Amino acid sequence: MELRQLEMPLVSAFETSGWREEEKTCIIVQLNAGSFSGFGECAVSTGPWYGSETLASAWFVLEEYLVPLLLGKESENAAEVLSAMDSVRGNNMAKASVEMAFWDLLGKSSGKSLSKLLGGTQGSVASGVSVGLQKTREKLVDVVGGYVEEGYRRIKIKIKPGRDVELVEAVREEFPDTPLMVDANGAYDPRESSALRKLDAFELLMIEQPFAWNDLVEHARLKKLIRTPVCLDESVASLDDLESALALDSFGVLNIKPARLGGLVVSRMVHDVCKARGLPVWCGGLLETGVGRAANVALASLPGFVMPGDISASGRYFKEDIVRPEFRLEADGTIRVPSGPGIGVEVVEDRLEKFTVKRKEFKP
Ligand code: MG
Repeated sequence: MELRQLEMPLVSAFETSGWREEEKTCIIVQLNAGSFSGFGECAVSTGPWYGSETLASAWFVLEEYLVPLLLGKESENAAEVLSAMDSVRGNNMAKASVEMAFWDLLGKSSGKSLSKLLGGTQGSVASGVSVGLQKTREKLVDVVGGYVEEGYRRIKIKIKPGRDVELVEAVREEFPDTPLMVDANGAYDPRESSALRKLDAFELLMIEQPFAWNDLVEHARLKKLIRTPVCLDESVASLDDLESALALDSFGVLNIKPARLGGLVVSRMVHDVCKARGLPVWCGGLLETGVGRAANVALASLPGFVMPGDISASGRYFKEDIVRPEFRLEADGTIRVPSGPGIGVEVVEDRLEKFTVKRKEFKP
């Protein structure tokens, strides 16, 4: 096993209601078995803003706990890899990185694509883009216009209290028919949610995670008050969370992110439950490099992913991705699902090297 910490320049800084990322950081996990190598990404931020894990905490948990549980062990499938990590609580992003690397290894050694292994049915996935908070309304409209021009199938804008209705109004005025949604990353106080009710007038696809990550009750209350579907992201980090959210009727749409859910096994189960109940899901993102992006694309090829996700082209984030071929936006606003073995894209050694700031190898 090998861990690498990467630092990559972003094409532009990414700002949400709670944090701002000037550059992309992550941990790339490499699993070696025989002549095969599998790659997974721990899509963690430097700080505990999206979730409670950080770049340093994930590295620590991987190095001190997860790697020793797995090094030199045999596993038949990803579920076994997950259960081998059972004694460690939480730390889903760290676990997901190892689990996803195992899926890649499984695909490469069996000659099957990750999409095929997961049961994917779609050869391409509709691509949306997530637009961070901008300095001015004019700048936001300008940035959105660029993505609409490129052909993205839906636009998501980040909002926060005080910067919501006016932003949506400005974008809607310019792009009346563009599929549009907002994401608050948990920034709203349920007692002061009048702005969220005002957003009901703009024909948004959904309002994503308006309230705190651990508050399913207020999301359920809001769902009854507004017409616009409520989407959860941060609030559902496990199958148990999903059960609670379903029991409370807290959402109408779900954003599935393998990093948040501890990998592809649980992500697929969450997908299956939602599909059986007729609840639409889409695949979110955490500014992944081509490695994590490839896993997201494969997951999004499952039949229940019926809405465009946050899976954008590599070029939306990076001048240079670490995989070949890079993910491109096709003329019809989709991203092709790789059909080669495993994640289906090649990790380019010298690019990986170029962005590596820390590296450690583990031998059984
Ligand atoms: Mg979100």
